[in-house]
Amino acid sequence: MSEPRGECDLAVVGAGILGLATARELLRRHPHLTVQVLEREAAVARHQTGHNSGVIHQGVYYQPGSLKARLCVAGARELYDYCDARGIPAERCGKLIVATAADELPRLDELERRGAANGVPGLRRVDADELREIEPHARGVAALHSPETGIVDYARVAAAFADDIAEAGGTISTGCGVTGITPAGGRVRIAHDRGETRARHAVFCAGAWSDRLAVMAGGDPDPRIVPFRGAYRLLRPQQRSLVRGMIYPVPDPELPFLGVHLTRRIDGEVLIGPSALLAGARDAYSLGRLVPDDIASTLTWPGSYRMARRFWRTGIEELRHVLPGGTFVAAAARYVPELREGDVTGGFAGVRAQAVGRDGRLVDDFVFSHTERALHVRNAPSPGATSSLAIARHIADEAARSFDLPTTTAS
Ligand SMILES: Cc1cc2nc3c(=O)[nH]c(=O)nc-3n(C[C@H](O)[C@H](O)[C@H](O)COP(=O)(O)OP(=O)(O)OC[C@H]3O[C@@H](n4cnc5c(N)ncnc54)[C@H](O)[C@@H]3O)c2cc1C
Repeated sequence: MSEPRGECDLAVVGAGILGLATARELLRRHPHLTVQVLEREAAVARHQTGHNSGVIHQGVYYQPGSLKARLCVAGARELYDYCDARGIPAERCGKLIVATAADELPRLDELERRGAANGVPGLRRVDADELREIEPHARGVAALHSPETGIVDYARVAAAFADDIAEAGGTISTGCGVTGITPAGGRVRIAHDRGETRARHAVFCAGAWSDRLAVMAGGDPDPRIVPFRGAYRLLRPQQRSLVRGMIYPVPDPELPFLGVHLTRRIDGEVLIGPSALLAGARDAYSLGRLVPDDIASTLTWPGSYRMARRFWRTGIEELRHVLPGGTFVAAAARYVPELREGDVTGGFAGVRAQAVGRDGRLVDDFVFSHTERALHVRNAPSPGATSSLAIARHIADEAARSFDLPTTTAS
């Protein structure tokens, strides 16, 4: 475990994939500056980065012109190149978005329009017959096929970023939960569990805790992070052949979630999920985990009630997915009819750091903000991992504009 520096040029808080990608990019551009990563946990990638479905998205869903659209398309390309260069397994197994009934076709049309506008490589519409050629066990009236959508282990990518940082002379210190942030005397004083680090500038990439650190640094409390637990089940080994790549439903355009889907994982498992249930903690990996501060934070946020009023029907549906004898498998059986309740086993959960506005809006796009001498990632849900290298460039560009740093590139 590296000793945290007392002084540095740039501090990056959070060693998930975004903090690590950002520290790596800052070091590439400013190799002569000292970069210190501060992470609360005992190792990197312990939260969202280590608890997701491992999909390399291609940018089908996102509003053209949004940061998500731009950074996902660029980020996916860069990520494949990075994995090739570093020998990290990544597989382009392709994805189908299946419309199961005619009333879903207008939404499929809209996704096709968005995908084309965003420049999603190889995206095309397929009919019911071709859909079955691509995924023999899937059924629907039409689908979109994204052949470049792929899979990777994001914890492994994050570990490679951490190696790059160490090689470039940066320091990653774990066990450094940040407890105070004070801009003073041309520095940001960052108090943490192992002392204090005084940085010329700082970037905060704290995932589910990003709102707390932004407020601690003097930032706006809006938006607040409201955690959503996303649980997955696994297909039994003998049923994995039901899915060649990935099969997704047409999502509800009102929600930033993609619906219950089937995803092959790079280790060969096939995931079914996720659910999207309001969680009792920002690290609610088990259903019973409740953290009073996290619950209070959700309950005292006016946006939580506005969101609940708008989406209560969806909430009930999500609850039905996860209750014993629930409708989770039935949701996927709409487009893979052979699936049976007994085909699933075990599973795991992740927690989405979903920013919710005071007005109850589920913030869809990536959000970045400033406080004195600092930048903050305020909303980076999926496809945040896919986009990590492009997000890091975006942050480094912003740092070059607002931090008054030299801008020579290392490569
Ligand atoms: C269920 C689920 C499925 C997903 N699937 C996909 C997918 O298939 N493809 C995709 O591209 N994206 C996916 N995502 C999104 C993706 O995982 C995230 O966008 C990405 O991991 C965000 O990275 P991060 O570094 O911001 O957050 P995190 O990985 O959560 O890292 C934040 C870090 O900050 C640290 N931290 C917090 N507070 C402090 C503090 N006070 N002091 C010090 N350190 C602190 C935490 O310990 C943590 O290590 C999924 C997310 C979830 C939850």
